[in-house]
Amino acid sequence: APGGGSEMQVVLGLGTNLGDREANLARALDALERLEGTQIVKLSNLYETEPFDVISQQEDYLNCCVLLETSLKPQRLLEHCLEIEQSLGRVRLEYHGARTMDIDILLCEGFSSDTPQLTVPHPHIRERAFVLVPLSDLFPLHSAFGYAFHEAYEAVDKAGVRLYK
Ligand code: AMP
Repeated sequence: APGGGSEMQVVLGLGTNLGDREANLARALDALERLEGTQIVKLSNLYETEPFDVISQQEDYLNCCVLLETSLKPQRLLEHCLEIEQSLGRVRLEYHGARTMDIDILLCEGFSSDTPQLTVPHPHIRERAFVLVPLSDLFPLHSAFGYAFHEAYEAVDKAGVRLYK
């Protein structure tokens, strides 16, 4: 949606493993695009990924990354992301449990933060193939706003991440 003010590029990571996963992603992307002063610049491929670090049997995830341009402040964008997660009916039953939608702020152009409420760059990017693989679609040179992830991309085990569409 249109808005005023200065724009910042932001990369989000989205994941869903409950219900109609493609529809969940479509609804989340639609909601992001409606946010004030926010446009989707580029979307990665969708990947089907094996659940990671889980304590019970779960469905595979669909994951993607999206590059946004937004005039929202990162803290405000995070609040909207949490609202979108809730509006998609996220249920948290257990640590790392199945979820309808998880939205993480991965990287923000020219911005970093180190609080529990908002840690940017996201602290787990470099160890997660389900983030590094779609991130690589958006940034084929493996550098995003000065955040270099080539070594991590080369090193991570990508076997559990399959191109979906
Ligand atoms: P989770 O759903 O497990 O990813 O955790 C959500 C919580 O992590 C939220 O309450 C956020 O305040 C916090 N958080 C910290 N840094 C980030 C970030 N970069 N992106 C999304 N959530 C974050």
